[in-house]
Amino acid sequence: MVDRINYVTNVSFKCNNCGKCCRLRGDIVLYPMDIIRISNFLNISCKEFLKEYTITLEYSVILSQIVIKSKNDKFLTCIFLDEENMKCKIYEVRPIACSNFPFILLNENNYAVQMVPCVQDFNKGSKVIDLLMQNPYFLSEKKQRKEIDKLVSLVNEKYEDLDWYKKIIFKILYLGYNSKKNAVSQVKKRLILIKILLNI
Ligand code: SF4
Ligand code: SF4
Repeated sequence: MVDRINYVTNVSFKCNNCGKCCRLRGDIVLYPMDIIRISNFLNISCKEFLKEYTITLEYSVILSQIVIKSKNDKFLTCIFLDEENMKCKIYEVRPIACSNFPFILLNENNYAVQMVPCVQDFNKGSKVIDLLMQNPYFLSEKKQRKEIDKLVSLVNEKYEDLDWYKKIIFKILYLGYNSKKNAVSQVKKRLILIKILLNI
């Protein structure tokens, strides 16, 4: 169940490491900044990270997406969940989709909250914005995430029938990064290139 809430809503939320949100996965979509940041943390190249830990979901009408693999078990457990202690092995640099959990960004000011048991009384607890701000990447990568979301929607709308074009945009946006270099500045350059290509 998902409820819509505002950026300033009070909501009580406490993680007790039950690990439930890291099961039934295989759907954690990555931004390019996530790819660079996690590869750097694992001390491997972005190419190795993509090969070992992710799969690319290819669609016929929209831009492909890169998601974190799940284990080959009946629970579809995320490949990064340490089942001994139910902790994320890449917690410090986990994807923005995970660090925002249980919130899903709908637009600039509104979030949906997934009604998992750890979400409690909406009149208690911290404001959504305060909870999100605890993630160091929430603000530093916010502008790029917004631009990427916009570009992806534009490409999906405008180039629905141009499969080869979407493949080029996908490569520029997601592949060939250097895990040792700054994520935001690398992505910024790719976004400029894509805008030139799209003539916007
Ligand atoms: S479902 Fe809630 S309590 Fe359980 S690990 Fe996820 S965030 Fe924490
Ligand atoms: S990356 Fe970490 S937080 Fe995200 S689903 Fe996997 S184990 Fe859970």
